Amino acid sequence: MSNDALVCELNGVMDTVVVQPTPFCNIACTYCYLPDRDAKSVIAVDTVKTLFRKIFASPYAAPEITIIWHAGEPLVVPVAFYRQAFEAIEALRTEAIEVRHSFQTNGMLITSEWCDLFKQYEVGVGVSIDGPKPLHDAHRVTRSGRGTFDKTMGGIRCLQREGVPFHVITVVGKDHLDNPDRLIDFYIESGIEDVCFNVEESEGAHVSSLFAASDLQARYAKFLTRFWSLARGTGKFNFIREIDGLLPLVFRPNESLMRNQQVIPFAMLNVDCHGNVSSFSPELLGYKHPAYNDFIVGNILTDELEDMMQSGAMQAMRRDIEAGVQACQAECGYFSVCGGGAPVNKLSERGSFRATRTSYCALAQIAPVDVILAAFDRVADDPDAIAALAKASSAAAQWPVTAVT
Ligand code: SF4
Repeated sequence: MSNDALVCELNGVMDTVVVQPTPFCNIACTYCYLPDRDAKSVIAVDTVKTLFRKIFASPYAAPEITIIWHAGEPLVVPVAFYRQAFEAIEALRTEAIEVRHSFQTNGMLITSEWCDLFKQYEVGVGVSIDGPKPLHDAHRVTRSGRGTFDKTMGGIRCLQREGVPFHVITVVGKDHLDNPDRLIDFYIESGIEDVCFNVEESEGAHVSSLFAASDLQARYAKFLTRFWSLARGTGKFNFIREIDGLLPLVFRPNESLMRNQQVIPFAMLNVDCHGNVSSFSPELLGYKHPAYNDFIVGNILTDELEDMMQSGAMQAMRRDIEAGVQACQAECGYFSVCGGGAPVNKLSERGSFRATRTSYCALAQIAPVDVILAAFDRVADDPDAIAALAKASSAAAQWPVTAVT
C-alpha cells in the first residue's frame, strides 16, 4: 500500500489519546501489571503541548477525541499541572475538534480542589474500587501492605459531596465470583450507580489467579447473570458496562461495522511521560519485545506522527495484529461483537499477536455475550421484554464512558 493510501485509510481515526503523566503509583496492588510503578518521572507541560500540536495538525485526529490520563496514579501529579495542560490543549485545539478529558484513579487523593477541576472541564472520572472492604483490601494495598479501602471511599464521598459524576471499575478476582449479592449491597449502600468489571488478567509479569480457577467461564457467566438480574430488580443502577456496553453491539443493524480500537493503528495513541509513543492496547506501553522495538513507534519530541505510522515497529505490529484479527474472523463465532480482541492479552497469554482465543476472551467477551443471548432467549416470546431490551440497548449506546482497563 502506498503512503498516500495509508494516510487516507486512517484519516480521522484517532479518537482516544492515553497519556501517562507519570508511571508512579502511590499504592502497589497485588495484580498490578505496571513495570515502572516506582519511577517518579512526570511528563512536562511542553511535551503535552508538542503532543497535541502534532495530533491536531495530523490527518489522524478524529472530530471528537477522548484524552485519558491514566497509569500509574494520575492524581499524584498536582492539580496545577492539569490546569496548565488543559489550558494549553484548549489553546491548541481547532474548532473542528472537540476533546473530553477522563481520569482513571484509585480515588485516594481526591479533594475538593480536584473536584473543582473535574467540574470545570466536565472530566469523566473512573474510580478503581474492588467492592466491600475485605474484597478490596485483599489486593489493593500500599507498599507496606495496608488496605486502601477507607481512603478510596473518602475520595468517592468527596466526589458525591461535590456533585461530580463518576463510575467505578471493580477488578473481579476469584473471591468475587461467588459474591454478586455482596457487591450489589455494597454499591447500593455506597450510592454507586455506574459499574464496570475488569476480570483480573494475566498481563506482563502478572499471572491471574482467576485464570487458574476451574469452570471459570461458566462461573463468571453465573456471576454476571445474578448481578444483572439483582441490579435491574433494585432499579438503582444506571449502567453495568459488561451488559449495557455490549447490548448495542449484540443487537445492531447487520450493516453496522464493529470498530475495535485496539487493532487499528493510531485509533488509540498511547504516550508515556518521556514522550514515547505506542498504539493498540495501552498496556503495551512499558512492555519489552525485541521484534517490536518494545512497542515504541517514535518519540513525540523528535518524530512526526506520519513517520511513526511508517516505522518498522508499527508495520511489524500492524502485520501481526491484523493476522490475528483475520484468524479470529475465520474461526470465532463472537467476532462480530469482539472485533478481534485485545492484542496485549493475546501476546501475554499466547505469546503472539497472531493468536486467537485466550482466557481473557472467555471472560471479557464470550461470557457476557452468552449471558445477554440467554436472557434474550428467555424473553423471546414476550414483546414487552424485547422492547425493554431494545430500549436498554439504545440508551447504552449513548453512554459516554470510555473505560480503560
Ligand atoms: S473472542 Fe477471542 S477468539 Fe473471538 S474474536 Fe475475540 S479475540 Fe478473537
